[in-house]
Amino acid sequence: MAAERLDRFMARANAAYYAARDPFADFTTSPEISQVFGEVLGLWAAVMWAGLGRPASVLLIEVGPGRGTLMADALRAIRQAMPEFAAALQVHLIETSPRLRAAQAATVPDAVWHDSLDDVPAGPFLLLANEFLDALPIRQFVRRAGGWTERWVVDGAFEERPVDPAAPAPALGQGGAAAPAEGSILEICEPAQAFVRSVAARLAHHAGAALILDYGPGHSGYGDSLQALAGGRPADPLAAPGTADLTAHVDFAGLAAAAEAAGAVAHGPVPQGLFLARLGLFQRANRLARHQPLARAAAIMEAARRLGEPDMMGRLFKVLSLTRPDGPAPPGFEA
Ligand code: SAH
Repeated sequence: MAAERLDRFMARANAAYYAARDPFADFTTSPEISQVFGEVLGLWAAVMWAGLGRPASVLLIEVGPGRGTLMADALRAIRQAMPEFAAALQVHLIETSPRLRAAQAATVPDAVWHDSLDDVPAGPFLLLANEFLDALPIRQFVRRAGGWTERWVVDGAFEERPVDPAAPAPALGQGGAAAPAEGSILEICEPAQAFVRSVAARLAHHAGAALILDYGPGHSGYGDSLQALAGGRPADPLAAPGTADLTAHVDFAGLAAAAEAAGAVAHGPVPQGLFLARLGLFQRANRLARHQPLARAAAIMEAARRLGEPDMMGRLFKVLSLTRPDGPAPPGFEA
């Protein structure tokens, strides 16, 4: 088998995986756990639309929409809470998997689909991305006595190769003055950096805001976070490309720095539990649970706790917002 740099291996493996399988058989995500997740994000977008001065036409963009559940829940909450926003928005979904596009067409029938953010028309926008960046391909570098090596995949195993001495030395996204110890692993997700720069470029020309939710640390650091899930269980990421979902931690601090270097303002990252609690996760869940049979009410509250509790998804998952310097302050990021 040919040798492949890790990011190219991961891109190929995930493209095959998303094209051929129902990823939700292998893992679950916040919108699939509780309808309140999408509802709260829809209300976040509604507040931001009002803060932008209620543009008469606005793009509601979602990147990597999965089954379309988040968007369907968001639109329902928006129609109820702010029908003027519902009337002003057009939904644009960015999705590369034909299989998931078909699923999204059933849940969000009036959407327009694109392969990339660069294809979305110009104009004021609100952008949501949940668990999108963790699926993008990473490169991994290993600190050795003689300098950095890079991980390639050869016959289902890692092989370290010297890096081009003429290329800029790999570095943490943010901070990291201390010299890394021998064996330290540094991860770089170039498409994630390109994505936030593209959001920042859009913000330079249009009113708008982005909300990015995913899992990862609050500060940039060394470590191997590549993981594979197949059938709901951890698997060997290199063994059978296309049969497992490959993800890695999102370097939120590094992405915030990249967005600010490109002219945007970054808010957060804040832990998902704190963000959702500030936006009324538990109040909405409570309202939904009222008048339900006991078992159903308990399930609704348990789902909200899964999203918000620190020892569940509340702390590992983070939320980052990008706005213009003159934009409204996004709710949920108060100091
Ligand atoms: N946001 C959804 C789905 C998360 S799974 C949820 O929370 O349930 C990741 C999503 O990103 C899938 O829809 C997948 O098909 C999509 N995706 C992965 N790589 C992509 C890429 N390079 N461009 C666009 N979409 C991509």
